[in-house]
Amino acid sequence: MTIRVAIAGARGKMGSEAVKTVCKHEGMVLVAALDYKHVGESLSQLEMFPPNLDVPIYTNLSQLITETNPDVLIDLTNPHSVYEHTKEAMLHNVRTVVGTTGFTDEQLEELSLLAREKKCGCIIAPNFAIGAILMMKFAKEAAKYLPHVEIIELHHDRKLDAPSGTGKKTAQMIAEVREASKQGHPNEIETMMGARGADFEGMRIHSVRLPGLVAHQEVIFGGDGQMLTIRHDSFNRESFMSGVVFCVETVMTMEELVYGLENIL
Ligand code: NAP
Repeated sequence: MTIRVAIAGARGKMGSEAVKTVCKHEGMVLVAALDYKHVGESLSQLEMFPPNLDVPIYTNLSQLITETNPDVLIDLTNPHSVYEHTKEAMLHNVRTVVGTTGFTDEQLEELSLLAREKKCGCIIAPNFAIGAILMMKFAKEAAKYLPHVEIIELHHDRKLDAPSGTGKKTAQMIAEVREASKQGHPNEIETMMGARGADFEGMRIHSVRLPGLVAHQEVIFGGDGQMLTIRHDSFNRESFMSGVVFCVETVMTMEELVYGLENIL
């Protein structure tokens, strides 16, 4: 069976890579792109895509679904629009693969309930790279023995949300095995606001934003006279694409929402 795919955010850094990936995959066909501009145009009319890429662009998701009948919507947009896209797709019984980060806990909870009610598969993956999933798993394992931990996530300077979805997810996974406790000196004083980073159950998360970076993270554990560093680097956006393909294929068999690729690998 050929999976009919629509992509929201097709012009973006991740979205344009996903367009290439879906187009060259034998088991998938790209049926539409969702944008907030270029209404009525086709991807072939945009300079960044080949002139034979005759895929219609819609600005209205409901119309896109009615006219092109996708099986799966891949969302690679931004934290302002991803929730509405995911919810609307589910209401139309269209499965979703979401790479966009920046959901609130309440939004995740609400989408999870809706997915269960509609029996509609949805994968929300803060990171599609297998190496990053392993980095999070290894960090969770290490935290059982070395509970003093800080997370440093590093991304390109066009990223909207901080900390990154991967940084937050790593902290949540570590929190499953680590008792909440404040780190550092009990009386420490920040002489400059934010110097100690964001606080997640006493763990600190530091967000670095610089041009030239893609997506990187270090999880640093300190113990008596020792330090363990677990690091992952995505040097380009191809690193995410095998995860995108895996999710599109897997979501076709699912009837609920899964948050994090580590739960289905
Ligand atoms: P990007 O280059 O800014 O791409 C986002 C695209 O979405 C842009 O073309 C933007 O258009 C478009 N867009 C904005 N609002 C839209 C809407 N309402 N409908 C349709 N399209 C809309 O960002 P990116 O680097 O590709 O990242 C996209 C998302 O993926 C971010 O949340 C990022 O954190 C996440 N990400 C996830 C992974 C993962 O493994 N899960 C990896 C990397 C990035 P304009 O530019 O014209 O506004």
